[in-house]
Amino acid sequence: MSRPCQALSVAISPPSRGCLNLMSDRRSPLHRYAVILTLCILQSTALFAQTPIPNWCRKLPRPEYKTVERVSISDPWFEVYKPAQGVFAIYEPHQAEETISYLIVGEKRALLFDTGMGISDLKKVIAQLTSLPIILLNSHTHNDHVGDNWEFSTIYGMDADFTRQNARGSRLDAQAEITSDQICGVLPKGFDSKAYATRPWKITAYTHDGDRFDLGGRLLEVIATPGHTPDAISLLDRTKGLLLTGDTYYPGPIWLFRPETDLDAYAASIRRLAALAPQVKVIMGAHNIPVASPSVLPRLVTAFDVVRAGKVPPSPDSPGKVLYKVDDISFLMRAPAAH
Ligand SMILES: [Zn+2]
Repeated sequence: MSRPCQALSVAISPPSRGCLNLMSDRRSPLHRYAVILTLCILQSTALFAQTPIPNWCRKLPRPEYKTVERVSISDPWFEVYKPAQGVFAIYEPHQAEETISYLIVGEKRALLFDTGMGISDLKKVIAQLTSLPIILLNSHTHNDHVGDNWEFSTIYGMDADFTRQNARGSRLDAQAEITSDQICGVLPKGFDSKAYATRPWKITAYTHDGDRFDLGGRLLEVIATPGHTPDAISLLDRTKGLLLTGDTYYPGPIWLFRPETDLDAYAASIRRLAALAPQVKVIMGAHNIPVASPSVLPRLVTAFDVVRAGKVPPSPDSPGKVLYKVDDISFLMRAPAAH
């Protein structure tokens, strides 16, 4: 086994949720393999000693953050913003997922919507933002949204096998998140890369479509939005006009390629969300940027429809995946089967 290509092959393989520009920057697969070969030769002559800064990282900070109020906290791994009254967006800009977890604060309790990567200590950050009891709910149970679940004691889960399976923890997806091309800057002090895994958590109660969480002076409704995963949900604060969409919508390329993704279910879910657009003031997705206009939801439906109708040419991405781009909306999907 030779290892010369290791560092370089990761530089082109896993797609990030980074900005659309990153995708358009990518070259053809043939070109990429030529580059790898060249770089391997360079590396074998020991000329390639440094890890390059990933492209997605060069494009940060995203300009949209200038318009959102920032909240100071002590952990440099996270950045915390306040996109709406009583809502904190907890952003992880040093890892390619650019995951955003949300803390929604009522008068009596607070609801935490996701726990991010589990790379640094989210619970400590939460303690700096509220002293109220925490209810934890996940937008879905992919590893990048449940990393710190294990630290919390009141955890609602969807009544789905996918959720129960993920609650057992896993290691493979977590390890793929910390290769050098996925990290921008430095990992937290004391972080143990070898031991990094999604730790198991205990589901304390199930939640279902239509459930309401009363935080005291603030009501949040669960909207089941399966598609990206079977257990995907959105959260609606009808009074304040806030809709948290998880991975059903976020500004970067929306991942719809994994085996647990159901495209018909996704098409139905985004229609359901688009029907809410007239009542909503702000969309808050789980990656990249914590604010978007509700007008994106009907456009999301149209974009997905034209992609599924075969009217958008795919551009090659990493092996087995293609990117479909419709204006500012894009979907990362399985490559169509060759004929
Ligand atoms: Zn996801």
